[in-house]
Amino acid sequence: MEEIVRLCNVHKWFGDNHVLKGVDLSVHKGEIVAIIGQSGSGKSTALRCMDHLEIIQEGQITVCGHTFGAGISGKNLKSLRMDVGIVFQSYNLFPHLTVEQNITLAPRSVRKVKSADAKEIAAKVLAEVGLSDKIHFYPEQLSGGQQQRVAIARSLAMGPKLMLFDEITSALDPQLTGEVLRVIEKLAAAGMTMVLVTHEMAFAMKLAHRIIFMHEGKIHEQGGPEILRNPSTPELQQFVSNGL
Ligand code: ADP
Ligand code: MG
Repeated sequence: MEEIVRLCNVHKWFGDNHVLKGVDLSVHKGEIVAIIGQSGSGKSTALRCMDHLEIIQEGQITVCGHTFGAGISGKNLKSLRMDVGIVFQSYNLFPHLTVEQNITLAPRSVRKVKSADAKEIAAKVLAEVGLSDKIHFYPEQLSGGQQQRVAIARSLAMGPKLMLFDEITSALDPQLTGEVLRVIEKLAAAGMTMVLVTHEMAFAMKLAHRIIFMHEGKIHEQGGPEILRNPSTPELQQFVSNGL
């Protein structure tokens, strides 16, 4: 099976703070991996390293065939970023651009797609997230959940091979969370490879093929969704009993 993500002995420091302490992880094509763990355990940092938003100090990362090691420059960055979509808790849409303009921006400027083709792509990805009728709206005219779905559509417009999600529903109320999670479910059904950092345990259990529990900068425990019902380590046991 094709390997989409491979982290080998990844170490990351912020100053004296040793945040990732030798992380090994591989994600195969079509796999959905949920990363869980306490705040500060290094989940976001691990995810950001996969998109080379953080430079690591030790180890090696291969994502969609692009390999990055310690302190490596961004020479393959553009092609990496075309293959990887990343969505954060804050939607980061451009407020002065319409939904369509937000979505067509990267395909036009990075992929050099023609305007008419970019608009076609925008229409397609907006249909996928169920927001075709909002194409000419501005972000402030949309709910948080809708803005987050536009942010997902914007990533999909680049035709990514891997989607990374970092707690994308944390700022949303339950109803809006549901509509965003349904978009993720659709992507899952379409076979998208995904790594999600999430607090939504029930969702992780339902959707993820594998759960990664991070604790103090390491993968402390991992396995199928059943590890949330039957944790092996006291740390995951405690996390689950606090969180569920
Ligand atoms: P999580 O996503 O699991 O809550 P993070 O990966 O965000 O954890 O953070 C792990 C540790 O790294 C924390 O101690 C945090 O303070 C630190 N950290 C994260 N990002 C930065 C940064 N840009 N600069 C300095 N320290 C950071
Ligand atoms: Mg985080």
